[in-house]
Amino acid sequence: MPLLSELVASMASGAVKVIDLTAPLHEDTSVISLPPERGQPWPFQREVISRYDAAGPEVYWYNIRMSEHTGTHFDAPIHWISGRDREDIASIAPSRLIRPAVVLDFKAEAAQDADFLLTQAHVERWCEDHGALPDGAWLLYRTGWADRRLDAQAFMNGNHWPGVDPGCARWLAEETGIIGIGVETVGTDAGQAATLSQPFPCHWYFQGAGKYGITQLQNLDSLPPRGAVIVTSPLPIVGGTGSPSRILALVEEGDGYSLSGTPNSLHPKRPDSTSLSSEAEV
Ligand code: MN
Repeated sequence: MPLLSELVASMASGAVKVIDLTAPLHEDTSVISLPPERGQPWPFQREVISRYDAAGPEVYWYNIRMSEHTGTHFDAPIHWISGRDREDIASIAPSRLIRPAVVLDFKAEAAQDADFLLTQAHVERWCEDHGALPDGAWLLYRTGWADRRLDAQAFMNGNHWPGVDPGCARWLAEETGIIGIGVETVGTDAGQAATLSQPFPCHWYFQGAGKYGITQLQNLDSLPPRGAVIVTSPLPIVGGTGSPSRILALVEEGDGYSLSGTPNSLHPKRPDSTSLSSEAEV
């Protein structure tokens, strides 16, 4: 069967599931809060243009307002000064928007310490169990922070949330083949990242190396450690530094995971996962 026909058939049968990693976008979606002397990103806001009324009897629509970095979003290389001469969001090749992913689960560590920082040793230990980081793939860093998404105060946690330590960020960005890092938190860096030896190390090293970030992900617990394919869809804002983005994962159910050969026992089927019905496909 042609590859795309096989994919469509597999989605219809539920053999390939589509999982939404995107946080719902609304007025209460958390945005990062910076020291008062700095500029601030806008939270999501909307205003009715018309709602089947005098302003537009047959049409309902909104104007919206937000920053490029509001809610689940994509960081382009030019977002950080270390990547200032690199790609803007509109210049990223479409083939780079559909990529495999590995999921590193450090939820237990982050539950013990809100300021937990991932180190190179943590990643190397993960690789001993799950294999090398694949070239061109996303590293999705699970911390359990998405569980706090309905409680803005717990999600922002007084600027204490987990991240990556500077040495690890540098190694991942400069020495490995991953395309970028995805996180559950409001940004790719830790809540206390301004105080690290290299402040905001994920932004500094990933953007500096021409790599990417994706943020405020959820449902990472529905993904296997290896084998998911991630579809990102940042808007092609010309000269833009990032964009709110729908982020979807394709996950193959069944015997093992095609990209890795990871045994199924490492990721038992979740009882709450839903398959696409054939009705949903028409
Ligand atoms: Mn950002």
